[in-house]
Amino acid sequence: MASTITDQLKLATNFQSKVIGISMKDRGGILPAGHFADAAYWFEGKSGNWISSTFYMEKLPHWVETFNKQKLADKYLKQDWNTLYPIETYTNSTADDTPYEGKWPGEETPTFPRKTSELIKDVGYELIKTTPQGNTLTLDFAKAAIEQEQLGNNPTENTDFLCVSLSATDYVGHRYSLSAVEIEDTYLRLDQDIANFLAYLDKHIGKGNYTFFLTADHAASYNPMYYTDQQGNGGYLFTRQIQRSLNSELKEKFGNDKIVRSLMNYQVHLNYTLIDSLQLDTKDIKETIINSLNKEEGITYVVDMEGNQNMFIPAPLREKIINGYNRRHSGAIQIIADPQWYAGTPRSPGTTHGVWSPYDSHIPLVFMEWGIKQGVSNKEVHVVDIAPTLASLLHIMEPNGNIGKPIVEVLGQ
Ligand SMILES: [Zn+2]
Repeated sequence: MASTITDQLKLATNFQSKVIGISMKDRGGILPAGHFADAAYWFEGKSGNWISSTFYMEKLPHWVETFNKQKLADKYLKQDWNTLYPIETYTNSTADDTPYEGKWPGEETPTFPRKTSELIKDVGYELIKTTPQGNTLTLDFAKAAIEQEQLGNNPTENTDFLCVSLSATDYVGHRYSLSAVEIEDTYLRLDQDIANFLAYLDKHIGKGNYTFFLTADHAASYNPMYYTDQQGNGGYLFTRQIQRSLNSELKEKFGNDKIVRSLMNYQVHLNYTLIDSLQLDTKDIKETIINSLNKEEGITYVVDMEGNQNMFIPAPLREKIINGYNRRHSGAIQIIADPQWYAGTPRSPGTTHGVWSPYDSHIPLVFMEWGIKQGVSNKEVHVVDIAPTLASLLHIMEPNGNIGKPIVEVLGQ
């Protein structure tokens, strides 16, 4: 709906800047690269190839086809996933075999070595997304893009923009949760992969000739079972069950059990077509839902997104709720879960994300090289501040829906 920082770069340079997005995940490649990108590439689990869309081009560039022919996903998966260092040195994680981790079908225990060479037969190339080699492969492809597309060597001397999203961390996190050996190993390997990529940039683009920034789109919760086993407070919101009981309560009052369309991402979506055709009062319906949700365990606040409610909510939460709301796309009611409670069941191990709590929203942010002042800061800044910071560095306009502020501490000049 709105422009991206990469769109603004394209507009400011009369479309002479090159912009490329790369990620294992389609949306991870597409969204940061924006509407005007030269290309967005992502990994297709079915074929094991990097692909794109006719939105950008009719046919894949020759270099992408050549890259795909190397079958690197095959090579990595055949190596199996062993820990980078001896497993007994992994002291920042639990034992290797715990009930908090997910398994692949056919695996007896969630333990090392992960036999990816065998699992590939059933799971296919999709498997690489859930191993640290998914990140390695993404950066292999990013290097090929830099070289083949001559990124950073634009004949018009304009700035080029490469967006890389390393999605394996998300897949590994979901599957094994925060405390697993698999997580410790994934981040040890990611650290090596990033070091290797930075050395590549220094060599091919030149130290000080590029600006690098690194962040995350979210963090994650501890597995609630792990957390409560350590005697912390936490739990699961059985959202499907909650949706069913809301609908049966609404049926008693309004004569229909399909009024709540979905309860997803902590938002209640109403079936407005049905509500209109039955000539029901939305305000009454919402009141019934809010009163009912307020009785559920594990829910701190229930918020009417149209604001017809006089409620005391801490200001930081109120701001987050409003920032995340879009009248055309959001649900009518927002649920704020208690800390360490999430939508899920103990039957699906691993973990998830999507709440306001610091463990889920506090993420790293690193800026380096060209135009960046050296230093460290613990001041709170937000993801939305990155685009205006880059706009300041590039002397271009901020994205057209921007609400962030430049982080002046990182700006050298
Ligand atoms: Zn995720």
